[in-house]
Amino acid sequence: MRTFKVLVTGGAGYIGSVAVRILLDAGYSVVVFDNLYQGHVEAVDPRAAFVQGDLSRLEDIRALFAAHPDIQAIMHFASYTLVGESMHQPLKYLRDNVANAANLLEIAVQHNVQRFILSSTANLFDLPADRASEPIDEHFPVRPGSPYGESKYAIERMLTWMHRIYGLRYACLRYFNACGALDDLGEDHDPETHLIPLVLQVALGKRPHILIFGDDYPTRDGTCVRDYIHVADLAQAHLLALEGLERFEVRHYNLGNETGYTVKEVIEVARRVTGHPIPAVIGPRRPGDPATLVASSAAIRRDLGWQPRYRDLETIIRTAWEWHRTHPDGYRSRALSSRSSPSNPGRDVCLPQ
Ligand code: UDP
Repeated sequence: MRTFKVLVTGGAGYIGSVAVRILLDAGYSVVVFDNLYQGHVEAVDPRAAFVQGDLSRLEDIRALFAAHPDIQAIMHFASYTLVGESMHQPLKYLRDNVANAANLLEIAVQHNVQRFILSSTANLFDLPADRASEPIDEHFPVRPGSPYGESKYAIERMLTWMHRIYGLRYACLRYFNACGALDDLGEDHDPETHLIPLVLQVALGKRPHILIFGDDYPTRDGTCVRDYIHVADLAQAHLLALEGLERFEVRHYNLGNETGYTVKEVIEVARRVTGHPIPAVIGPRRPGDPATLVASSAAIRRDLGWQPRYRDLETIIRTAWEWHRTHPDGYRSRALSSRSSPSNPGRDVCLPQ
């Protein structure tokens, strides 16, 4: 029996690599396409095919499809993802994220790809002050908080036309704050900008303190409120969405745990988990940050039966801490230790011509 083949762009990255694992475990055939700009080849499951290439080059995408003409669905993770950076380099986001998605879609429809899952973002919802405390469902008005959010919204809009003109079925998954780790797959960005890994780096003694971006927001302790969701639960949502597109043509889902924590509360939980005092210093606000982002995920629960397994922030941070403790230098720790292991046969890496 021919297996269903899924292309995962950004499959060497933090969320993409976990999605690859979950797809493979569910019996799908997977090809990972990644430029390794932020991703790590060590994070690519050896059961997946790996093609190194860049979405900015149509010839790379053509070579990918020439080698894998049987791709039936795409999970598109590869993109620039930093809210703060997007406020300083807006066109890197507004041009490159959007153009790269257009390149991918151009070749995908030529090859009659049937289903597309977009990793989108909660940054679509910079709420007006009078709605700031409400859980955000899919009916909330879109008002991107940054060029990053705007770039994802532009891709969502592009997909509406791909559906209308070519019949491409698609789901946009708007993540709230991805975090946590599996035993061997975790968060390793350079530079790191996300709250939880930075806090854990303080606990590891790699940073003197955590800088809190503003304590003058209209929230319970003045720091931003976010909804933290485990990366394995996000990946599971991708699998369910892929399968749901057999029944549905178009879906938009907000993905979070439906509980908000302030930055100070996150640091407090990390202090309990690590046993480290984790000094914190208050700094100015980071441009582009909405005060509060908490999801309502009722729609994906109802439609697809999605149930996050990791509901409690302490458990989520514990999984991240376990990964950071055992990988203090990220994937470099694993590369060094696996190089000395005779049982590691290495993996084939296919470079486009
Ligand atoms: N944050 C912070 N200090 C940091 C990094 C992040 O105070 O060094 C705050 C940030 O302002 C936001 C929250 O932590 O309110 C989560 O930020 P992160 O960058 O992890 O994710 P984002 O919300 O941008 O997706």
